[in-house]
Amino acid sequence: MDGYDADGNRVYDKVRGQTCHQCRQKTMGKRTACSSCASLQGVFCGDCLFMRYGENIEEVNDNPEWVCPHCRDLCNCSFHRSRRGWAPTGTLYRRAVAQGYASVAHYLVLNNLEDAAKEEALPLMPAELATATRAELKAMAEGQGKEAALLVPSSAEQSASECEGAPAKREQGAEMVAKRTARRDQGSIGVLPRGKVHKAQVAEVGKKRQREAPQSETVIRNRGLHDTA
Ligand SMILES: [Zn+2]
Ligand SMILES: [Zn+2]
Ligand SMILES: [Zn+2]
Repeated sequence: MDGYDADGNRVYDKVRGQTCHQCRQKTMGKRTACSSCASLQGVFCGDCLFMRYGENIEEVNDNPEWVCPHCRDLCNCSFHRSRRGWAPTGTLYRRAVAQGYASVAHYLVLNNLEDAAKEEALPLMPAELATATRAELKAMAEGQGKEAALLVPSSAEQSASECEGAPAKREQGAEMVAKRTARRDQGSIGVLPRGKVHKAQVAEVGKKRQREAPQSETVIRNRGLHDTA
């Protein structure tokens, strides 16, 4: 396999190896080259390219017009993440894969889309997120803006915790509503600028979906998170 020896270990080459922008490893094997910046930040190894961005290095290297994740403003390497004030992706990777996303980049991008881009991105989303997004778009079309939903505790939110089956879950749901309300009161979430990814938002990204999702989705999300925890 590309860049690996017969035992499956990565082959390091400090002289000829090119440092991958994502994992910072100087291993043998294929590397990408960005047609836009033509710089070291566009150099990725096949593993990182696939696991973090869902792209295949063979296809990428066949495309002379390929543009690196950084030039597309979606580099999720530790350096660029911290420069944007995003949280590290360690656990994000497991969560993204568990929820059916193609990569961490898909997860981050699809969960932080501007409203206008959501409709178009539906085919790229895992079924669960697509369902939630469709419902969200429908709600917005009906004149219930996202901000309004964030700032005003809706009756739907209340009933979401009340109608859940198991008593344990119901308790949890109530607790979540209480937490949400507390956060809202502190003004830490409701006042975030739109379209900007905030540290707190990333940390809360799973819960954010829950908050925005309709009640049935909230139940599914809860289950999903517990299964993968
Ligand atoms: Zn790499
Ligand atoms: Zn580039
Ligand atoms: Zn980067």
